[in-house]
Amino acid sequence: MAALYFHVPFCKQACHYCNFHFSTSLKHKTSILEAMLVELDLRKQELHSESIINSIYFGGGTPSLLSSDDIKSLIERVNDHYIISDDVEITLEMNPDDYRANYLEELKLVGVNRLSVGIQSFHEEELKLMNRAHNAEEAFRILEKIDILFDNFSLDLIYGLPKSNLKSWKKNIEYALQFNPKHISSYLLTVEPKTVLNHQVEKNEVEVLGEEGVLAQFNYLVNSLEKEGFDHYELSSFGKPGFRSVNNSAYWSGKSYLGIGPSAHSFDGLTRSWNVSNNNKYLKGISSKEPLIEREVLTKVDRYNEYLMTGLRTENGVSLGYIHENFGFHFKELLEKEAQVQIASQVLFWDGDTLKVSRESMFLVDGIASNLFLLNKSTKCL
Ligand code: SF4
Repeated sequence: MAALYFHVPFCKQACHYCNFHFSTSLKHKTSILEAMLVELDLRKQELHSESIINSIYFGGGTPSLLSSDDIKSLIERVNDHYIISDDVEITLEMNPDDYRANYLEELKLVGVNRLSVGIQSFHEEELKLMNRAHNAEEAFRILEKIDILFDNFSLDLIYGLPKSNLKSWKKNIEYALQFNPKHISSYLLTVEPKTVLNHQVEKNEVEVLGEEGVLAQFNYLVNSLEKEGFDHYELSSFGKPGFRSVNNSAYWSGKSYLGIGPSAHSFDGLTRSWNVSNNNKYLKGISSKEPLIEREVLTKVDRYNEYLMTGLRTENGVSLGYIHENFGFHFKELLEKEAQVQIASQVLFWDGDTLKVSRESMFLVDGIASNLFLLNKSTKCL
């Protein structure tokens, strides 16, 4: 099984916290769509032709700026080159302000069977602070419509927002749950370099929320969603039984995926690659039949470190048996040794032969995993 990702590099306006690749000028929308079709043709061998596609994901950027016919043409081209599994998950990220008459029905007709809605907050002042293109009324309206038409949908919420508190966060979760989403992705607001938010923080125009406030919101998120029957299966992901994201699960389990469009990333099991993050350069590369792609062949140590990071972020943890089989006895021995300190401090624990992060420490998982990383240069003997 393999996954396909389409990066649609356009947004109506720039959210203040966002460092993804997108353009707010839509003038190249048609040419980018045509180029993505050509890129699919040019790179079809990168996923073996016998691969069955079980996930097609339209992300960005804002894919809901595309028409349902645009989406249809991309799905049809995938169908020309690959076998699409009968139970394929086809997800489209959608922003609430992109609601238009018949759009949701049309998306269903062309095969989209899962929507991921960028709500982020139901509070007007928080949406303004983030410079989201939608308002609270639009957030409520789109979820009402989606709840009627789509059985499977996810919504995104951001916690740790400046000026937020536990009361406002509880309200966000309460509003979200009233629409019966099958999945919720919830991310901590991070201050990324070169964003408006970073500039505002540096100028003391915006004050980030302290760690205690952030942790209280995260703990409330986990406890309240688990009480509502969601599995907390990855740091930021909560799904009702049977509704975990097929796309994200493919990334976390090291499956192959092909990313199409400016800045899209791909992985074939050994090599990571990423398309140029510039719409004009992307168009030039495709028109000369030489897509501008950078590649990095992962060393065994890189793959081991990635396995630790993705495994510990998920409820699966990392398995000694898997490490022994895929990386060798020395890696297994090293992990057992390196984990001891964090086991003693009850940050990590063994569940059979699987190393997991304790519930209380999950919030800090990225740092916990990186404490276990190996450095390429120090492991030549392995
Ligand atoms: S809509 Fe999404 S991709 Fe576009 S600027 Fe906002 S967060 Fe970034």
